[in-house]
Amino acid sequence: MSNNYDIVAMGAGHNGLTAAAYLAKAGKKVLVLERKSYPGGGVSTRQLSTPGYWHDEHSSVHIMIQGNPMLRQDELGLIGKFGLNYHYSPVPHATIFPDQSVLFTYKDLDKTCANFATVSKKDAETYRAFSKMSMKILQLFMPGLYAPPPPLADLVAMLDKSEEGQLMLDYMQRDCLDLVNQLYESDKIKIHLLRLVSENLQCPDELGTGMGVLLMPGIIHTYGVSQPVGGSGKLTEALVRCIEAHGGEVRCDAEVTQVLTSAGRATGVRLTSGEEFTARDAVIGAIHPHVLGKFVAGVPVPVRERAARATLAPFSIMVSHYDLREKVKYYAGEEVGYATMLEFMATDNLNEMIADFHALRRGEISPRRLCAGGDESIGDPSRSPPGCGMFHGITFAPYKLADGRNWDEVKEEIGDLSLAHYRRFVSNLTSDNIIARKIVSPVDLERSSPNSMMRGDLHGVAPYFYQSAGSRPTRDLGQFRVPGVERLYLAGPFQHPGGGVYGAGRATAIAMFDDLGMDFSQIGEKPEAPKTQVAVPREGMVLRGPADEELMRVEAIRRDGEELVIKGTSLGTLPMEARLDGSSARAGLKLLGARNLAFLASLPFRKGSQP
Ligand SMILES: Cc1cc2nc3c(=O)[nH]c(=O)nc-3n(C[C@H](O)[C@H](O)[C@H](O)COP(=O)(O)OP(=O)(O)OC[C@H]3O[C@@H](n4cnc5c(N)ncnc54)[C@H](O)[C@@H]3O)c2cc1C
Repeated sequence: MSNNYDIVAMGAGHNGLTAAAYLAKAGKKVLVLERKSYPGGGVSTRQLSTPGYWHDEHSSVHIMIQGNPMLRQDELGLIGKFGLNYHYSPVPHATIFPDQSVLFTYKDLDKTCANFATVSKKDAETYRAFSKMSMKILQLFMPGLYAPPPPLADLVAMLDKSEEGQLMLDYMQRDCLDLVNQLYESDKIKIHLLRLVSENLQCPDELGTGMGVLLMPGIIHTYGVSQPVGGSGKLTEALVRCIEAHGGEVRCDAEVTQVLTSAGRATGVRLTSGEEFTARDAVIGAIHPHVLGKFVAGVPVPVRERAARATLAPFSIMVSHYDLREKVKYYAGEEVGYATMLEFMATDNLNEMIADFHALRRGEISPRRLCAGGDESIGDPSRSPPGCGMFHGITFAPYKLADGRNWDEVKEEIGDLSLAHYRRFVSNLTSDNIIARKIVSPVDLERSSPNSMMRGDLHGVAPYFYQSAGSRPTRDLGQFRVPGVERLYLAGPFQHPGGGVYGAGRATAIAMFDDLGMDFSQIGEKPEAPKTQVAVPREGMVLRGPADEELMRVEAIRRDGEELVIKGTSLGTLPMEARLDGSSARAGLKLLGARNLAFLASLPFRKGSQP
């Protein structure tokens, strides 16, 4: 078998697979190499203990990927051809408090506000107005998530030009606690909202993390929150099918030890077995900034030093997977069972919750636990044998324990403490209902994805403002390229837009298409009507994207000397001024051609056109 490919990818996490799938679809001969015996990295669904119980080993909820054109326009055919199917719970998020009272965030904004009003009428109305603003801002924000980002300084300059942009800048630099304190009065509502954004592995009072507060309501009430039917790993399966359908290969049990280079260019990889693979065009690497030097020679020392300084999240998580004889029952009632993200709060006092986050930062396992979880088989019966249930519990936990104890020695004991906490909310998480359990510590997470989930940071690096957009994970590496090593591209949670299931490998692919002289705009399937229609006003001259999103709104066209000046806004609110000179106009007319020109002249009078 030949070991020569156009593209070789190290790591079959969903991001590496996504990038590889776009290249394979464009006709490149692609090989993806995975060190584990199965693909997917943090996007895998497996039978961990008992046959028939399909656990999401890591990620479970797919939130941010829903705005990705990879799914919205089904660019790779994952939904239309390769079997990916999402279900949306009507209850994206719920928090149970110690007295078993519950706050719900529904996809439906009115229903959510009615629920919040049971705690505070004022907060419910604030949330309504805030969510509407958040949904509007989302239109500005989302398109940038799935493509190479601008340098952070350019983004700041661009945002600073409009009121909405300035608001985003303000939120980006503040901390979430400050923001919810300014907006809301009820501790319960503040806790409910803060717990949701802290899933990003941030303490609520860390400066430079406030964007979650601004955007989460918009995301939930626009897209909802989804899970693939059959489990998170179904995304991986669809990506692998897509790569294989386009002639690519995904090979497991193949650990890369070195990216090979020649004359400052990545030319292939070597495995631990010594086997080598040649990449004619490019190598994709799931390489965390902290280990860049370990995998590739030729990266300038200052670039490596800055990469080594990328900041990790202040804490990690511990996961408990339970196989159950019967489905989970909650003291709080049946409805919480359908919540995709369900928090089990040990307190309804905001100061106490913040103190628990501080304990985590100090490396302590606090007696009041920060836990979430649920029984996936309630919303998706295919996950367990008929009638049976399962439970996955997530506890925030420090990677390094302050008391010096070793996770391998204490994880079962700490798992028992979490179990005691879950039992305050779940009536049947009892010994006679539990068939098996598996506890996964922060150190196990790092072992599972050693070159992206460094020190248990499942999002690669922390979500701080200074390492966002084109500065994630550093300014040098923010465009997915590696200075000093041409044709090496990075894919991982440590890159823009951040950790989580984003399908961020699409942005890596766009950078590669650019460098390889390929046209990314040719990649998509014929766009279908988007599943979630975002309401946008249709008046005025508006250029729309394939998902009917507003790309550009033209407000004035006027002559300025020998040029035409087009003024308006782009992506919702960013002020835009475009100038057209004689040679560009000639090129434009050539592109249009006589037939399209005639069509353009008749367009305003055609059937279906807006009056
Ligand atoms: C417990 C847990 C729960 C989570 N829950 C959610 C959630 O609900 N929603 C959400 O959006 N996100 C969640 N996340 C985060 C999400 O899973 C990750 O951010 C995402 O999977 C990262 O994808 P990736 O492809 O960039 O990297 P990874 O998934 O880490 O993939 C990298 C791959 O590269 C392989 N690899 C590494 N080194 C080599 C080598 N030398 N040679 C060959 N292969 C190599 C690894 O084995 C791995 O398969 C969770 C993560 C964890 C751990």
